[in-house]
Amino acid sequence: MFLFAGVGCSEASKTVSNTVTKTTESTKETSKETVADTKDTTTKEAEKTNTALGQLKLHFIDVGQADSILIQNGDKSMLIDAGNNPDGDDVVNYIKGLGIKKLDVVVGTHAHEDHIGGMDTVIKSFDIGQIIMPKAGNTTKTFEDVLTAIANKGLKITSPVPGNEIKLNSATAKIVAPNGSEYKDLNDSSVAIKLTFGENSFMLMGDAEAVSEKEILAKGFDIKADLLKVGHHGSSSSTTQEFLNAVNPKYAVISVGKENDYGHPHKSTMDKLKAKGIKVYRTDELGTIVATSDGKSITFNTKEGSYNYAGLGTSASSGSNSSSGSTAAKSTAPASTPTPAPAVTKSSSDDRIAYYVPAGKSYHFNKSCSTLARSKAILSGKLSDVIALGKSDPCDKCAK
Ligand SMILES: [Zn+2]
Ligand SMILES: [Zn+2]
Repeated sequence: MFLFAGVGCSEASKTVSNTVTKTTESTKETSKETVADTKDTTTKEAEKTNTALGQLKLHFIDVGQADSILIQNGDKSMLIDAGNNPDGDDVVNYIKGLGIKKLDVVVGTHAHEDHIGGMDTVIKSFDIGQIIMPKAGNTTKTFEDVLTAIANKGLKITSPVPGNEIKLNSATAKIVAPNGSEYKDLNDSSVAIKLTFGENSFMLMGDAEAVSEKEILAKGFDIKADLLKVGHHGSSSSTTQEFLNAVNPKYAVISVGKENDYGHPHKSTMDKLKAKGIKVYRTDELGTIVATSDGKSITFNTKEGSYNYAGLGTSASSGSNSSSGSTAAKSTAPASTPTPAPAVTKSSSDDRIAYYVPAGKSYHFNKSCSTLARSKAILSGKLSDVIALGKSDPCDKCAK
Protein backbone atom coordinates (compact mmCIF):
# COMPACT_ATOMS: atom_id res chain seq x y z
CA MET A 1 0.00 0.00 0.00
CA PHE A 2 2.74 2.36 0.95
CA LEU A 3 5.01 1.37 -1.90
CA PHE A 4 3.74 3.90 -4.35
CA ALA A 5 1.74 6.12 -2.08
CA GLY A 6 1.25 9.42 -3.74
CA VAL A 7 3.93 11.94 -4.12
CA GLY A 8 3.32 12.85 -7.71
CA CYS A 9 1.49 16.12 -7.92
CA SER A 10 1.08 18.31 -10.92
CA GLU A 11 3.49 21.18 -11.15
CA ALA A 12 0.89 23.62 -12.37
CA SER A 13 -1.11 23.90 -9.20
CA LYS A 14 2.00 24.05 -7.06
CA THR A 15 3.02 27.34 -8.59
CA VAL A 16 -0.40 28.75 -7.98
CA SER A 17 -0.51 27.86 -4.30
CA ASN A 18 3.01 29.09 -3.84
CA THR A 19 2.16 32.61 -4.89
CA VAL A 20 -0.88 32.64 -2.68
CA THR A 21 1.12 31.86 0.42
CA LYS A 22 3.84 34.30 -0.39
CA THR A 23 1.46 37.21 -0.24
CA THR A 24 0.01 36.23 3.10
CA GLU A 25 3.36 35.25 4.57
CA SER A 26 5.24 38.45 4.03
CA THR A 27 3.27 40.51 6.50
CA LYS A 28 3.70 38.28 9.49
CA GLU A 29 7.17 36.89 9.17
CA THR A 30 9.27 39.74 10.40
CA SER A 31 9.53 39.31 14.14
CA LYS A 32 10.18 35.62 14.44
CA GLU A 33 13.51 35.13 12.78
CA THR A 34 15.40 37.38 15.11
CA VAL A 35 13.94 36.11 18.33
CA ALA A 36 14.54 32.48 18.77
CA ASP A 37 18.17 31.73 19.19
CA THR A 38 17.27 28.81 21.35
CA LYS A 39 19.33 26.50 23.40
CA ASP A 40 18.70 22.83 23.67
CA THR A 41 18.64 21.93 27.28
CA THR A 42 18.56 18.56 28.88
CA THR A 43 16.03 18.98 31.62
CA LYS A 44 14.02 16.01 32.69
CA GLU A 45 10.37 16.39 31.84
CA ALA A 46 9.49 14.61 35.06
CA GLU A 47 10.80 17.50 37.13
CA LYS A 48 8.57 19.94 35.36
CA THR A 49 5.12 18.73 36.18
CA ASN A 50 3.61 21.97 37.38
CA THR A 51 3.58 24.26 34.43
CA ALA A 52 3.27 27.94 35.04
CA LEU A 53 0.82 29.94 32.98
CA GLY A 54 3.76 31.43 31.22
CA GLN A 55 4.82 28.20 29.55
CA LEU A 56 3.54 26.11 26.72
CA LYS A 57 4.61 22.48 26.67
CA LEU A 58 4.27 20.01 23.84
CA HIS A 59 4.86 16.40 24.82
CA PHE A 60 5.45 14.18 21.80
CA ILE A 61 4.77 10.96 23.66
CA ASP A 62 6.77 7.97 22.45
CA VAL A 63 4.11 5.55 21.25
CA GLY A 64 6.27 3.75 18.67
CA GLN A 65 4.98 3.85 15.11
CA ALA A 66 2.06 6.14 16.00
CA ASP A 67 1.22 9.66 17.16
CA SER A 68 0.24 11.16 20.51
CA ILE A 69 0.86 14.80 21.43
CA LEU A 70 -0.11 16.39 24.73
CA ILE A 71 -0.20 20.17 24.86
CA GLN A 72 -0.27 22.06 28.18
CA ASN A 73 -0.68 25.72 28.92
CA GLY A 74 -1.23 26.38 32.59
CA ASP A 75 -4.33 24.53 33.72
CA LYS A 76 -5.53 23.81 30.19
CA SER A 77 -4.57 20.82 28.14
CA MET A 78 -5.18 19.33 24.76
CA LEU A 79 -4.43 15.87 23.41
CA ILE A 80 -3.84 15.24 19.73
CA ASP A 81 -4.07 11.48 18.99
CA ALA A 82 -3.57 8.60 21.40
CA GLY A 83 -1.31 6.02 19.75
CA ASN A 84 -2.19 2.46 18.76
CA ASN A 85 -4.71 0.30 20.62
CA PRO A 86 -2.18 -1.13 23.10
CA ASP A 87 -0.82 2.37 23.83
CA GLY A 88 -4.00 3.60 25.53
CA ASP A 89 -2.89 2.84 29.09
CA ASP A 90 0.59 4.30 28.55
CA VAL A 91 -0.87 7.52 27.21
CA VAL A 92 -3.33 7.73 30.10
CA ASN A 93 -0.59 7.10 32.66
CA TYR A 94 1.68 9.67 31.08
CA ILE A 95 -1.04 12.32 31.24
CA LYS A 96 -2.01 11.37 34.80
CA GLY A 97 1.65 11.57 35.75
CA LEU A 98 1.52 15.25 34.87
CA GLY A 99 -1.32 15.75 37.33
CA ILE A 100 -3.88 16.32 34.61
CA LYS A 101 -7.48 15.29 35.33
CA LYS A 102 -9.28 17.00 32.49
CA LEU A 103 -8.49 17.22 28.80
CA ASP A 104 -10.10 20.40 27.56
CA VAL A 105 -9.70 19.45 23.93
CA VAL A 106 -9.15 16.04 22.37
CA VAL A 107 -8.34 15.75 18.68
CA GLY A 108 -8.39 12.50 16.74
CA THR A 109 -6.59 13.62 13.60
CA HIS A 110 -7.98 10.82 11.45
CA ALA A 111 -9.48 7.38 11.74
CA HIS A 112 -6.30 5.29 11.47
CA GLU A 113 -5.48 3.00 14.37
CA ASP A 114 -2.04 4.48 15.03
CA HIS A 115 -3.76 7.78 15.88
CA ILE A 116 -7.06 6.87 17.51
CA GLY A 117 -6.25 3.36 18.76
CA GLY A 118 -5.80 4.40 22.40
CA MET A 119 -8.46 7.09 22.23
CA ASP A 120 -11.30 5.06 23.76
CA THR A 121 -9.15 4.38 26.83
CA VAL A 122 -8.29 8.08 27.09
CA ILE A 123 -11.92 9.15 26.80
CA LYS A 124 -12.94 6.71 29.54
CA SER A 125 -10.17 7.94 31.86
CA PHE A 126 -10.54 11.73 31.87
CA ASP A 127 -13.05 14.52 31.96
CA ILE A 128 -13.25 15.68 28.39
CA GLY A 129 -14.15 19.15 27.14
CA GLN A 130 -14.61 18.83 23.42
CA ILE A 131 -13.67 16.19 20.89
CA ILE A 132 -12.66 17.14 17.39
CA MET A 133 -12.54 14.52 14.66
CA PRO A 134 -12.92 14.70 10.88
CA LYS A 135 -16.08 13.39 9.28
CA ALA A 136 -14.19 10.75 7.30
CA GLY A 137 -14.29 7.50 9.23
CA ASN A 138 -13.89 3.84 8.53
CA THR A 139 -15.50 0.60 9.52
CA THR A 140 -12.84 -0.78 11.81
CA LYS A 141 -13.51 -1.99 15.33
CA THR A 142 -10.98 0.58 16.56
CA PHE A 143 -13.01 3.42 15.10
CA GLU A 144 -16.27 2.00 16.44
CA ASP A 145 -14.73 1.66 19.91
CA VAL A 146 -13.92 5.36 19.86
CA LEU A 147 -17.43 6.30 18.76
CA THR A 148 -18.89 4.11 21.49
CA ALA A 149 -16.63 5.65 24.16
CA ILE A 150 -17.70 9.12 23.01
CA ALA A 151 -21.39 8.19 23.06
CA ASN A 152 -21.13 6.53 26.47
CA LYS A 153 -19.80 9.77 27.91
CA GLY A 154 -22.61 11.76 26.35
CA LEU A 155 -20.12 13.72 24.27
CA LYS A 156 -20.56 14.97 20.74
CA ILE A 157 -17.96 15.15 18.00
CA THR A 158 -17.09 18.62 16.73
CA SER A 159 -16.16 18.66 13.04
CA PRO A 160 -12.98 20.55 12.25
CA VAL A 161 -13.59 23.80 10.36
CA PRO A 162 -10.45 25.31 8.83
CA GLY A 163 -9.92 28.81 10.12
CA ASN A 164 -11.60 28.11 13.46
CA GLU A 165 -9.55 28.80 16.55
CA ILE A 166 -9.52 27.13 19.94
CA LYS A 167 -8.17 28.98 22.98
CA LEU A 168 -6.00 27.15 25.46
CA ASN A 169 -5.38 29.93 27.98
CA SER A 170 -2.89 32.15 26.19
CA ALA A 171 -2.20 29.67 23.41
CA THR A 172 -4.30 29.48 20.25
CA ALA A 173 -4.87 26.38 18.16
CA LYS A 174 -6.03 27.20 14.66
CA ILE A 175 -7.41 24.47 12.46
CA VAL A 176 -5.88 24.58 8.96
CA ALA A 177 -7.02 21.21 7.56
CA PRO A 178 -8.82 19.18 6.30
CA ASN A 179 -10.04 21.53 3.60
CA GLY A 180 -12.04 18.90 1.75
CA SER A 181 -14.32 16.08 2.77
CA GLU A 182 -13.47 13.24 0.41
CA TYR A 183 -9.99 11.91 -0.02
CA LYS A 184 -8.58 8.79 -1.67
CA ASP A 185 -6.33 8.38 1.33
CA LEU A 186 -7.70 8.78 4.84
CA ASN A 187 -4.40 10.40 5.81
CA ASP A 188 -5.39 13.53 3.91
CA SER A 189 -8.49 13.87 6.08
CA SER A 190 -6.13 14.59 9.01
CA VAL A 191 -6.92 17.54 11.23
CA ALA A 192 -3.88 19.82 10.98
CA ILE A 193 -3.36 22.55 13.55
CA LYS A 194 -1.21 25.62 13.83
CA LEU A 195 -0.57 26.35 17.48
CA THR A 196 0.58 29.85 18.40
CA PHE A 197 1.97 30.98 21.75
CA GLY A 198 3.51 34.42 21.98
CA GLU A 199 6.05 34.63 19.20
CA ASN A 200 6.36 30.87 18.84
CA SER A 201 4.31 28.63 16.63
CA PHE A 202 3.95 24.95 15.84
CA MET A 203 2.48 23.13 12.83
CA LEU A 204 1.00 19.78 13.80
CA MET A 205 0.18 17.74 10.71
CA GLY A 206 -1.20 14.36 11.75
CA ASP A 207 -0.73 12.16 8.69
CA ALA A 208 -1.63 14.86 6.15
CA GLU A 209 0.05 14.16 2.82
CA ALA A 210 0.85 16.14 -0.31
CA VAL A 211 -2.81 16.53 -1.31
CA SER A 212 -3.74 18.23 1.96
CA GLU A 213 -0.53 20.26 2.07
CA LYS A 214 -1.39 21.68 -1.33
CA GLU A 215 -4.89 22.60 -0.15
CA ILE A 216 -3.49 24.33 2.95
CA LEU A 217 -1.15 26.35 0.75
CA ALA A 218 -3.97 27.23 -1.64
CA LYS A 219 -6.06 28.52 1.27
CA GLY A 220 -3.37 31.07 2.01
CA PHE A 221 -3.12 30.31 5.74
CA ASP A 222 -0.09 31.75 7.48
CA ILE A 223 1.68 28.48 8.19
CA LYS A 224 5.12 29.82 9.01
CA ALA A 225 6.15 28.06 12.22
CA ASP A 226 9.16 27.44 14.43
CA LEU A 227 8.41 23.74 14.71
CA LEU A 228 6.87 21.26 12.29
CA LYS A 229 5.48 17.95 13.52
CA VAL A 230 6.27 16.23 10.23
CA GLY A 231 3.30 14.63 8.51
CA HIS A 232 2.83 10.86 8.33
CA HIS A 233 5.85 9.76 10.34
CA GLY A 234 8.34 11.19 7.86
CA SER A 235 6.88 9.41 4.84
CA SER A 236 7.90 10.60 1.38
CA SER A 237 4.19 11.11 0.67
CA SER A 238 4.20 14.16 2.98
CA THR A 239 6.42 17.22 3.42
CA THR A 240 6.58 18.50 -0.14
CA GLN A 241 9.31 21.04 -0.75
CA GLU A 242 6.74 23.81 -1.33
CA PHE A 243 5.07 23.09 1.96
CA LEU A 244 8.31 22.85 3.89
CA ASN A 245 9.47 26.15 2.42
CA ALA A 246 6.25 27.83 3.50
CA VAL A 247 6.43 26.52 7.07
CA ASN A 248 10.18 27.13 7.12
CA PRO A 249 10.66 25.62 10.57
CA LYS A 250 13.74 25.66 12.72
CA TYR A 251 12.81 22.35 14.33
CA ALA A 252 11.12 19.20 13.07
CA VAL A 253 9.62 16.47 15.23
CA ILE A 254 9.01 13.01 13.79
CA SER A 255 6.87 10.52 15.67
CA VAL A 256 8.11 7.19 14.38
CA GLY A 257 8.81 3.66 15.62
CA LYS A 258 12.15 1.90 15.53
CA GLU A 259 12.42 -0.60 12.66
CA ASN A 260 8.86 0.04 11.58
CA ASP A 261 7.34 -1.86 8.69
CA TYR A 262 7.03 1.21 6.49
CA GLY A 263 10.64 2.28 6.29
CA HIS A 264 9.72 5.62 7.96
CA PRO A 265 11.22 8.11 7.99
CA HIS A 266 11.97 8.11 4.28
CA LYS A 267 15.14 9.36 2.66
CA SER A 268 13.55 12.17 0.66
CA THR A 269 12.03 13.74 3.77
CA MET A 270 15.25 13.54 5.75
CA ASP A 271 17.20 14.96 2.80
CA LYS A 272 14.85 17.96 2.64
CA LEU A 273 15.15 18.63 6.37
CA LYS A 274 18.92 18.29 6.24
CA ALA A 275 19.25 20.58 3.23
CA LYS A 276 17.51 23.35 5.17
CA GLY A 277 19.52 22.72 8.34
CA ILE A 278 16.37 21.97 10.34
CA LYS A 279 17.08 20.33 13.69
CA VAL A 280 15.31 16.98 13.90
CA TYR A 281 13.84 15.40 17.02
CA ARG A 282 12.51 11.87 16.56
CA THR A 283 10.86 9.49 18.97
CA ASP A 284 12.59 6.39 17.57
CA GLU A 285 15.95 7.77 18.66
CA LEU A 286 15.04 9.98 21.62
CA GLY A 287 11.85 8.55 23.16
CA THR A 288 9.32 11.08 24.41
CA ILE A 289 10.21 14.60 23.29
CA VAL A 290 9.13 17.64 25.30
CA ALA A 291 9.32 21.06 23.68
CA THR A 292 8.85 24.02 26.02
CA SER A 293 8.09 27.56 24.89
CA ASP A 294 8.16 30.70 26.99
CA GLY A 295 6.57 32.59 24.12
CA LYS A 296 9.92 33.69 22.77
CA SER A 297 12.08 30.64 22.40
CA ILE A 298 11.75 26.88 22.41
CA THR A 299 13.82 24.43 24.42
CA PHE A 300 13.87 20.65 24.37
CA ASN A 301 14.32 17.93 26.97
CA THR A 302 16.84 16.19 24.78
CA LYS A 303 19.52 16.94 22.26
CA GLU A 304 18.68 16.65 18.61
CA GLY A 305 18.48 13.44 16.60
CA SER A 306 20.01 12.33 13.32
CA TYR A 307 19.03 12.63 9.67
CA ASN A 308 19.19 8.84 9.29
CA TYR A 309 16.43 7.26 7.29
CA ALA A 310 14.98 3.79 7.42
CA GLY A 311 13.68 3.49 3.89
CA LEU A 312 13.51 5.12 0.52
CA GLY A 313 9.78 5.46 0.10
CA THR A 314 8.51 6.54 -3.25
CA SER A 315 11.22 7.13 -5.73
CA ALA A 316 10.37 10.70 -6.63
CA SER A 317 12.48 10.71 -9.75
CA SER A 318 10.59 7.99 -11.57
CA GLY A 319 7.90 10.51 -12.40
CA SER A 320 5.29 8.10 -13.65
CA ASN A 321 3.95 6.77 -10.37
CA SER A 322 0.31 7.56 -10.28
CA SER A 323 -0.46 8.99 -6.90
CA SER A 324 -3.31 6.70 -6.07
CA GLY A 325 -4.32 3.24 -5.34
CA SER A 326 -2.50 0.96 -7.73
CA THR A 327 -0.30 -1.07 -5.50
CA ALA A 328 0.34 -4.30 -7.26
CA ALA A 329 0.07 -2.88 -10.73
CA LYS A 330 3.65 -1.71 -10.83
CA SER A 331 4.67 -5.23 -11.75
CA THR A 332 8.07 -6.66 -11.63
CA ALA A 333 9.76 -5.08 -14.59
CA PRO A 334 13.40 -4.78 -13.67
CA ALA A 335 14.11 -1.97 -16.10
CA SER A 336 13.10 1.59 -15.39
CA THR A 337 9.88 3.00 -16.76
CA PRO A 338 9.82 2.99 -20.54
CA THR A 339 10.18 6.43 -22.05
CA PRO A 340 10.21 7.47 -25.69
CA ALA A 341 13.54 9.22 -25.27
CA PRO A 342 16.62 7.04 -25.30
CA ALA A 343 17.35 6.24 -21.70
CA VAL A 344 20.82 7.36 -20.78
CA THR A 345 21.89 5.45 -17.73
CA LYS A 346 24.01 7.39 -15.33
CA SER A 347 27.09 5.42 -14.56
CA SER A 348 26.94 6.29 -10.86
CA SER A 349 23.47 5.01 -10.21
CA ASP A 350 21.54 1.92 -11.11
CA ASP A 351 17.95 2.94 -11.73
CA ARG A 352 16.49 -0.53 -11.78
CA ILE A 353 13.76 -0.88 -9.17
CA ALA A 354 14.70 -3.27 -6.43
CA TYR A 355 12.56 -4.62 -3.60
CA TYR A 356 13.58 -5.25 -0.01
CA VAL A 357 12.24 -5.68 3.50
CA PRO A 358 13.26 -3.56 6.50
CA ALA A 359 14.96 -6.38 8.37
CA GLY A 360 16.72 -8.27 5.58
CA LYS A 361 20.03 -7.77 3.81
CA SER A 362 19.01 -8.87 0.34
CA TYR A 363 17.39 -7.16 -2.61
CA HIS A 364 15.02 -8.53 -5.21
CA PHE A 365 13.95 -7.58 -8.70
CA ASN A 366 10.75 -9.56 -8.53
CA LYS A 367 8.27 -8.14 -6.06
CA SER A 368 6.46 -11.46 -6.11
CA CYS A 369 9.62 -13.43 -5.43
CA SER A 370 8.79 -16.47 -3.32
CA THR A 371 11.36 -15.51 -0.71
CA LEU A 372 9.41 -12.30 -0.09
CA ALA A 373 6.06 -14.06 0.15
CA ARG A 374 5.79 -13.97 3.91
CA SER A 375 6.86 -10.36 4.36
CA LYS A 376 4.11 -7.91 5.13
CA ALA A 377 6.16 -4.87 4.29
CA ILE A 378 7.95 -4.87 0.96
CA LEU A 379 9.70 -1.61 0.17
CA SER A 380 11.23 -0.49 -3.08
CA GLY A 381 13.69 1.95 -4.54
CA LYS A 382 16.39 2.41 -7.14
CA LEU A 383 18.90 -0.39 -6.91
CA SER A 384 21.81 1.91 -6.14
CA ASP A 385 19.87 3.54 -3.29
CA VAL A 386 18.75 0.16 -1.98
CA ILE A 387 22.32 -1.09 -1.90
CA ALA A 388 23.36 2.11 -0.14
CA LEU A 389 20.84 1.21 2.57
CA GLY A 390 22.81 -1.94 3.26
CA LYS A 391 20.70 -4.36 1.25
CA SER A 392 23.73 -5.71 -0.55
CA ASP A 393 22.89 -9.36 -1.24
CA PRO A 394 21.20 -10.08 -4.56
CA CYS A 395 18.43 -12.63 -4.11
CA ASP A 396 19.44 -16.09 -5.37
CA LYS A 397 16.07 -16.58 -6.99
CA CYS A 398 15.37 -13.32 -8.78
CA ALA A 399 18.42 -11.08 -8.75
CA LYS A 400 21.32 -13.27 -9.85
ZN1 LIG B 1 -0.06 7.50 11.21
ZN1 LIG C 1 -2.79 7.51 8.90
